[in-house]
Amino acid sequence: MAVFAHPDDEIGCIGTLAKHARRGDEVLLVWTTLGELASQFGDTEHEEVRRIRREHGAWVADKIGAKYHFFDMGDSRMTGGRDEALQLARLYATFRPHAVITWSDDHPHPDHRMTAKIAFDAVTLARIPKILNEAGTSAAALSPAPDLGGDAAPESGEDIRRLAAWRDPIRFYQYYAPASPYPEVFVDTTDTVDVAAEVMAFYQAFYKWPWTPEQFRAARTQVGRLCGAGDAERFTLRASHLKAREYLD
Ligand SMILES: [Zn+2]
Repeated sequence: MAVFAHPDDEIGCIGTLAKHARRGDEVLLVWTTLGELASQFGDTEHEEVRRIRREHGAWVADKIGAKYHFFDMGDSRMTGGRDEALQLARLYATFRPHAVITWSDDHPHPDHRMTAKIAFDAVTLARIPKILNEAGTSAAALSPAPDLGGDAAPESGEDIRRLAAWRDPIRFYQYYAPASPYPEVFVDTTDTVDVAAEVMAFYQAFYKWPWTPEQFRAARTQVGRLCGAGDAERFTLRASHLKAREYLD
């Protein structure tokens, strides 16, 4: 599961996600906001921006063979608070991920930092049935169970079913940041760099970024040189709630 704040944030791990989907893994792209405040849209109405960004997310998910889900936590309004983490925990309990990828902890954009925070907090909240279903008798207070259908409006979840806790260990990956105290992990994305560059080019054409698909590829090749791969993506790994191994292999 990839958890990001805005459609286009996922560009840094798209080769990895595409590779998992190609292997047959279920991949879910999640955005915590609809990105309605992006400067590039100028005076376009928020509703129209939300529609376009939802379309972008759907296009990317379809391109790599993933499902997707949008929350509506408010562009630049994320607080990293408990309610946001609980909404995400209910998605974890529904999708039951073994690995999560998100932003680094130190990115300048507050939504990116808050997304990384709630993505980590939700790992623990998803383990605790009394929290996941804490509204108990008051169904109205319970966050809706996430709709994995993709196109349904995020606000529309009427389903407030009780969820079973998700207690399997989740490997928690974040975009590489030099100051991170956690170990680095490289994924060889040589086989999926083409589709990753296509996704990048899709956004580049829309937003008129000066950054080119050729530069995008060159950066991946450079990361590949650090780890003996043709092209690679780079993350850090934080782990918690691990089960015992038999040996250190
Ligand atoms: Zn973003």
